Amino acid sequence: MKTVLVLGAGGFIGSHMVKRLKSEGYWIRGADLKYPDFSVSLADEFVVDDLRERDSMRDIVHRDGVPFDEIYQFAADMGGAGYVFTGEHDADIMNNSATINLNLLDSVHKLNKKCGLNRTKIFYSSSACIYAKHNQEDPSNPNCSEASAYPANPDSEYGWEKLFSERLYFAYNENYGIPVRVARFHNIFGPEGVWSGGKEKAPAAICRKVAETENGGMIEIWGDGKQTRSFLYIDECVEAVRRLMESDFPGPVNIGSEEMVTIDQLVDMVASIAGKTIQIKHINGPEGVRGRNSDNALIKEKLGWSCTMTLAEGISRTYSWINSQLHRSYS
Ligand code: NAD
Repeated sequence: MKTVLVLGAGGFIGSHMVKRLKSEGYWIRGADLKYPDFSVSLADEFVVDDLRERDSMRDIVHRDGVPFDEIYQFAADMGGAGYVFTGEHDADIMNNSATINLNLLDSVHKLNKKCGLNRTKIFYSSSACIYAKHNQEDPSNPNCSEASAYPANPDSEYGWEKLFSERLYFAYNENYGIPVRVARFHNIFGPEGVWSGGKEKAPAAICRKVAETENGGMIEIWGDGKQTRSFLYIDECVEAVRRLMESDFPGPVNIGSEEMVTIDQLVDMVASIAGKTIQIKHINGPEGVRGRNSDNALIKEKLGWSCTMTLAEGISRTYSWINSQLHRSYS
């Protein structure tokens, strides 16, 4: 039986990945600061620990002294625009996430040396936030091809940490032969993602606001609503990650949808799914870049993967889940 370690298994993507790997018959150890918020983890073993602690990481990366077959690294200090684009959390975001990545690679390298093995394949979740700000100023025509990452100019410190860590994974690959796979996620959403409290991202926040508002009511949106994004449903993300891990292609590669919408269009879509007429009030707030869309040419070429679910279908599933969560919290 293949063994796998999922770091960040208490988070949104990590907890979905655990479910997927379980269905494929893996033995799974999950690790996180916390258990998943919305369901019981299917991991065979779940370690609640702080991965910034080097000793904790050293204990977690092996099972009875034997390295894992695969590691999925999703643990990071992150959130939506209200968390990563205000600048208020930059030092923590950079320090916390970089420390986890440094600890992981150092621990795996030392374990490999001790065991005389080098078999653990590591997946690292980077982000579309690494792309250059100057290529994302035209909302109708952003450039997020993988090759456009350099010369680098991410618009957030979160993006700079991701770019540094991408390079760190590839350096361990070059110098120590550790097999790595790196993907740049573009706005992953779906059920069991955070939907309140300040770390939620645009699709969840809009679903919550629409669900809380009566027909004919008004919701507030940061910016002029003309900023563009694409959003990828969680099951599609997990499938693309699995394909990348099974392939010989190290990346970095975009994992996203090419169905770009403005934020106002996203609100209209959610309202129509909810069967409501909703007015939008545009207010000042952290927005991020003006335009962003996944460029999927490389992933199509290398993995034969493309997104199959429409945004409307993914939003419909997410809206019903958030709506039911909201009603549960009222009752
Ligand atoms: P998430 O916040 O739900 O999950 C991250 C998990 O890491 C959390 O459960 C958190 O508790 C854990 N964590 C943070 N610091 C830790 C520490 N010191 N020790 C142990 N655990 C710690 O985020 P997510 O949406 O599941 O994202 C997973 C990964 O994908 C992250 O690296 C994120 O940066 C990346 N990513 C996500 C998106 C997206 O749209 N969701 C987009 C781009 C990149």
